[in-house]
Amino acid sequence: MKALQYRTIGAAPEVVTVPDPEPGPGQVLLKVTAAGVCHSDIAVMSWPAENFPYPLPLTLGHEGVGTVAALGAGVTGLSEGEAVAVYGPQGCGRCAKCAEGKENYCLRADELGIRPPGLGAPGSMAEYMLVDDARHLVPLDGLDPVAAVPLTDAGLTPYHAIKRALPRLVAGSTAVVIGTGGLGHVAIQLLRALTPARVVALDVSEDKLRLAREVGAHEAVLSDARAAGAVRELTGGVGAEAVFDFVGVEPTLATAAAVAAVEGEIAIVGIGGATLPVGFGSLPFEVSVYSPYWGSRSELAEVLALARSGAVSVHTETFSLDEAPRAYELLHEGKINGRAVILP
Ligand code: NAD
Ligand code: ZN
Ligand code: ZN
Repeated sequence: MKALQYRTIGAAPEVVTVPDPEPGPGQVLLKVTAAGVCHSDIAVMSWPAENFPYPLPLTLGHEGVGTVAALGAGVTGLSEGEAVAVYGPQGCGRCAKCAEGKENYCLRADELGIRPPGLGAPGSMAEYMLVDDARHLVPLDGLDPVAAVPLTDAGLTPYHAIKRALPRLVAGSTAVVIGTGGLGHVAIQLLRALTPARVVALDVSEDKLRLAREVGAHEAVLSDARAAGAVRELTGGVGAEAVFDFVGVEPTLATAAAVAAVEGEIAIVGIGGATLPVGFGSLPFEVSVYSPYWGSRSELAEVLALARSGAVSVHTETFSLDEAPRAYELLHEGKINGRAVILP
């Protein structure tokens, strides 16, 4: 089968032919119908050889949906042809966090060498993919594969980050979304669906700000040194009760710190690598800073349910598997509006 693989540190990913995978005991083979392109893959492909954590070659793609093609020995409860989404941040299934359903925070995944598809294990940018356990599959139940696939990360990750801030996002409050790309443009819709907060979107690109307005942002502000002042002004000096930074670089974290309200929440979702100093006097009183990772399987089911209700719809641009390297280039250049989706 064809697969998109990252093979050489620092080089572009390549479309190659690899052996067709066969499901072992307990595994499920999916015929991939759609795979999402996440900015995290670009971060992965920028890491130096010295501390590159995954074996190469690596089949990319940590957002995947497909139809069940074959079942390994002992797998029950799934039927061939069933359309499913893959829950990516898989854990051991047994530790205290997994028992709570929070496999994204599995306490033993590292020790056991469990890696998400596309982030260590073979991913969804291939004609077929193996899933290690049927519990990682969530039924699509009628959702369109292209529209649904970004929800497994670009939907689930902001959903998880926003859920924690919900008690702050009461009527009259403000939520700031920094970076309105794949994750950010879904975050805006989730905030509109789940809260009465005023949503202020920040991005460096006019195209992205246009998309932010289209998907429901009340205000869209250019992300520069003046942005924090603009948000303060929009909120009568109070600031934002919740700030979601989908970039995570020095200037965006500085903006996040400058716009947070007293008792506000700052979620650092973007893996831009910058840090925020936290200490008495460095932030308004009682601001909480957190760095969430992906979300739980039950939250994925909730996000899919929101999409079925029409509350969330991802803006997608589709590419064939052969065009996938180009999709990564365009994402790197900031030229994807919404989420790029590969059709293997
Ligand atoms: P994306 O490229 O689709 O979107 C990023 C957006 O940020 C773009 O619209 C870009 O124009 C904008 N941007 C860049 N610099 C900016 C600045 N200074 N101010 C405001 N906006 C700016 O990327 P994505 O796939 O949505 O991913 C967003 C980030 O989230 C990435 O860092 C990714 O690695 C990370 N991520 C984290 C998790 C997690 O679990 N924590 C999960 C998925 C993705
Ligand atoms: Zn991702
Ligand atoms: Zn676990």
